[in-house]
Amino acid sequence: MENSRSSFDGDHPIVRGRGGPLVILAYHELADIQDPIATSPKLFAMHLKWLLDHGYTSLTLGQFEDAVSGGNLGTKRVLITFDDGYESVFRVGLPILRDYGISAVNFVITDKLGNPGHQSWDQVAAMERSGVFSTQSHSHSHIRWSGVGEMIRDVVISRDKLVQQLALAPGSVRHLAWPWGKVLPGWSEAAQAEGFAYQYLVRTSSVVPGTSAIGFPRVCCDRYSVERFAVTMRMLSNAFGAGTMNLATQVWRKVKHN
Ligand SMILES: [Zn+2]
Repeated sequence: MENSRSSFDGDHPIVRGRGGPLVILAYHELADIQDPIATSPKLFAMHLKWLLDHGYTSLTLGQFEDAVSGGNLGTKRVLITFDDGYESVFRVGLPILRDYGISAVNFVITDKLGNPGHQSWDQVAAMERSGVFSTQSHSHSHIRWSGVGEMIRDVVISRDKLVQQLALAPGSVRHLAWPWGKVLPGWSEAAQAEGFAYQYLVRTSSVVPGTSAIGFPRVCCDRYSVERFAVTMRMLSNAFGAGTMNLATQVWRKVKHN
């Protein structure tokens, strides 16, 4: 990730190229606890094993950038991401991922680093050095911002802290996972102007040519049984299934809100 240039300089940053769909997975904590965003280490390893057994490959963040900016999305490719910077991802996730030869993205909340249960800056740096993880932003404070101004100040702090503390090249923090996957009108463009060329939401869908680069869908599969994981991956990995799943999610949301 030495390349500090954004691949999306235009006003309408969409995925170009061919191939796909490509699936982006989101995890949080790796622990044997009853929590909607905790995955047992055993289940996590089973997800990874399922992917490898079924011919999937994971992308590094650099490979992902190349794939979505005019390269080839390929087939059976996944981007694995972690939100919130839990300490368990360093302690448990790093060895498992290294064993499987799988790359991942560490979306940290910079203000929480060093807090109990969260990674320390030293751990984040070690994860980055391992070559397994790329560190990117999940905002500085992960709060419900009052408006675009407060939001931008917050994400810019996270961007600058990551560059400074991890001695990254300026411009290399250009991926933003929105807290709770939530974004208000105008926010994506404002964050894009601050260098966040790649932004991530939460949606059970996958990446195809035409997908917005400032609205990548991610599947939160923290609690998915291996069976549900397999069904979801199969659906999202073929173009027809990805569209159907997306439509089903939209219809379900509409029904829920009416
Ligand atoms: Zn979060």
